[in-house]
Amino acid sequence: MLRKYLEAGKIAFEVKEFAREIITPGMDLLRIAELIEAKIVELGGKPAFPVNLSKNDVAAHYTPSRDSKETLLEEDVLKVDIGVHVDGYIADTAFTVGGGNLTKASEKALSEAISIVKAGTSVLEIGRVIEQVIRERGFKPIENLGGHSIDRWNLHSGVTVPNVPKGRDFKLKEGMVIAIEPFSSMGSGRVVDTEEVYIFQFIREVPIRLKGARELLNRVKLEFGSLPFAERWISGYSKRTLEILMTELVKAGALYPHRVLREAKRGLVAQAEETLIVERDGCEVITSL
Ligand code: MN
Ligand code: MN
Repeated sequence: MLRKYLEAGKIAFEVKEFAREIITPGMDLLRIAELIEAKIVELGGKPAFPVNLSKNDVAAHYTPSRDSKETLLEEDVLKVDIGVHVDGYIADTAFTVGGGNLTKASEKALSEAISIVKAGTSVLEIGRVIEQVIRERGFKPIENLGGHSIDRWNLHSGVTVPNVPKGRDFKLKEGMVIAIEPFSSMGSGRVVDTEEVYIFQFIREVPIRLKGARELLNRVKLEFGSLPFAERWISGYSKRTLEILMTELVKAGALYPHRVLREAKRGLVAQAEETLIVERDGCEVITSL
């Protein structure tokens, strides 16, 4: 089990390095996404979720659609959030291209947070550290996004690691796998849902009357299990047909739509994230060296 987490972490780290090298202004986001996801597979992993390429005031859950023409501009602040799994053991890591001090604030908050992690650390204490580091640099942490515990095949397994000292407290336990992900913003410090959805996830078995929708559900269950997937990963349907079937499955409650999250006041957002294993006297960050 530990070996597979370390393997997923190492792949995620290498893919992150690869992404830092290849991402340049003028590139199409779709091409960036495809190169990153192909690299995960080339290194022996599988995407644990579609690579998130969220720009500027979009904080999370954006991934290009198959017909996206969106291009990265010089001034863009791009969050690159990468998930890798090996046999269901997940590593989750993110970095930001551009953003200057805003990005540095999220990175510093992450390293300070990691420095206090050990068995017994309170997640609210982690939130306190993150908030303090980001605020003293003149920005706001996003309070309704946060890190999370990870289990096999389960990206968000129940414990939240907040970016502010709010919510339910929990003392970290030895052997737990958690992701810490400070988001710093120049807006109000909150994200809101948009109507846009590019990432879906199977949640439960429900009776589906429409035959095409039922077949699609069986297919995504088989291919992606309980992990999030992109609409662009599903081939063999026209855009319109796929849209109808996915809408049907969301309405029926079989699929969860991960809506694109935008900063409430359209402020810029930066993110840094690592996955780590809690140890008795510290932690092992699996997604960096
Ligand atoms: Mn992530
Ligand atoms: Mn995460």
